[in-house]
Formats: sequence, C-alpha cells, structure tokens
Amino acid sequence: MFDFTEPIIQNVLHPTLQSFEIRLDVKRLDLIDPFISGNKWFKLKYNIEEANRLNIKTLLSFGGAYSNHIYALAAAGKRFGIRTIGIIRGEETLPLNDTLKFATDCQMQLEYVSREKYRLKDNPEFKDELLKTYGDVYIIPEGGSNLLGVKGTVEILSEREINEYDIICCCCGTGATLSGILIKLNGNKNALGFSVLKGDFMKNAVDTITYDYSGQLFENYTINNHYHFGGYAKSNSELDSFIKTYTNTTLIPIEHVYTAKMFYGIMDLVNKGKFTPGTKILAIHTGGLR
Ligand SMILES: *Cc1c(COP(=O)(O)O)cnc(C)c1O
Repeated sequence: MFDFTEPIIQNVLHPTLQSFEIRLDVKRLDLIDPFISGNKWFKLKYNIEEANRLNIKTLLSFGGAYSNHIYALAAAGKRFGIRTIGIIRGEETLPLNDTLKFATDCQMQLEYVSREKYRLKDNPEFKDELLKTYGDVYIIPEGGSNLLGVKGTVEILSEREINEYDIICCCCGTGATLSGILIKLNGNKNALGFSVLKGDFMKNAVDTITYDYSGQLFENYTINNHYHFGGYAKSNSELDSFIKTYTNTTLIPIEHVYTAKMFYGIMDLVNKGKFTPGTKILAIHTGGLR
C-alpha cells in the first residue's frame, strides 16, 4: 500500500568536520516525500494500517497551528483517500497560516479547542466526547507518538547503518523518534538526542516511551538539553545565521524548529572537541521543511 523512496545518506562537507577528523553523514528523511516527510511518515504508517484493519474511515489527531504532524496527517489523508480531522490548539486566526491552509486544502476538517481544553486531550473523558461528536474515528495522539508510531520509528535506522556508525543523532520533540532508534540499536553503539524544548524532562520522556514499547531501558544514549534556543520554535539571530551559512556550505536545507538545533549542537560539540577524531556520526534529518 505504501510506496516511499528509500532515504539517501549524504556526507556533510564542512571545513570544521575536516579539521577535527569527524565524519558526519545525514539520513535525509526529509526527502522521502514532498508532503508526508521526515519522521512523521514513520509515525503515521502503522496507525493508518491499523485504522484500515479496523475499517475506520476517519483519522483524528491533535496539534498546534504550526504542527508538522497535522500537516503530514492531512497530506496522508488526501493521498490515501482517508477523511481527517485536526483538533487544533487555540482560537482560529484568519487568514490561515500555511500549515492550516495546506491542511484544509487537503480536505482536513479543522476543529479549534481552547488551550485549557486542549491540555485534556489524552483524558479518556475527552476521547469519549470526541467519539460521540465525530462518530467512528481513529484517534492518533499529538505528534503521532503512540506505540504504533514508535513501531514505525524503529524502522528509521537500518542494520547496515548500525554497523557503519558510532553515534546516531536526532532531535527530540516528544522523544518517540529517538526511542525508536534506541530500540533498534538494542544497546549497541550510541545515540545522542538534541531536545528542542526547554527543560530537562526529555530523558524521562524517552525512557518512558522506550520502556512502554520494549520493556527495556537503554543506557547507550544521552540527551543534550543545551541547544533549545529559548524553547520550542524559538530562534535568535545566531541560529538564523547558522541556518543560512550551514545550508550554503552543506546544501542541506534545515529549519529553526527542529533540525537546525541538532546541527548547531553537533557542530558546536565538534568545535569543542567533544568527539574523538575518527568518530562516524549519522544524523537523522527528520524533515520539517515542506
Ligand atoms: C515532529 C518532529 C520532530 C520530533 O520528533 P519526536 O519523535 O516527537 O521527538 C523532529 N523533527 C521534525 C522535523 C519534526 O517535524
């Protein structure tokens, strides 16, 4: 049913990497599809399969007004002929931003809920209410990060890549992508996650998701909480100018919400000599560009 291209791996050419003798390759999940791209596709695919199996014709999920998950879900709904409903945090603002405009162009039905109510999105009572209001819908949690979402992210990394690289890097929002990587690594090699959120809760989040899925906790990874640039979707002139020069130098498109924070972090750690010469790093480009 799902026919996506195998993501390519691109070597990053950068003088800093050369002088510190670090090999940095990027797995370009951003290129698997123009609309259903990056890690969001991996999180959606088994959920869509499950909805099909249950013969449920509508997918419902949650997100903020700029959610990449909502964008990908709307695109997937259109592509595969499945009805979609997006429960959007906060008031409607017109004109719609690009994300929500795209979603409605894909025939996604948008429903706005107050921030207070949105916080209850994982409560059983709220779910019952959604089922009453919208009928037979398959509910996917925010970010697509349920167990079937994790099942998809386990497939991001291949055996060959585990053999080839010393460290696997990705950025973390809910932590489900990193959890999938850890489960696939199964204790081998190392992983390094860059939190795009402010705070030090990400390690707990990743451990919880990993344990819920696999019954195991892994120690071969660290979370770096130092490159959030003020918090989710925040940026500053330093990050903005990094995006410009890095994209010009490497020809890899990145954006300020997710992947730029990881690449900034990787390059900063390289510059500070935190990786031993000869280290082979694979960074997962999780998308977010459209
Ligand atoms: C959603 C998203 C993430 C976060 O993934 P999690 O599995 O929630 O940690 C990372 N990168 C991009 C581009 C995203 O859209």
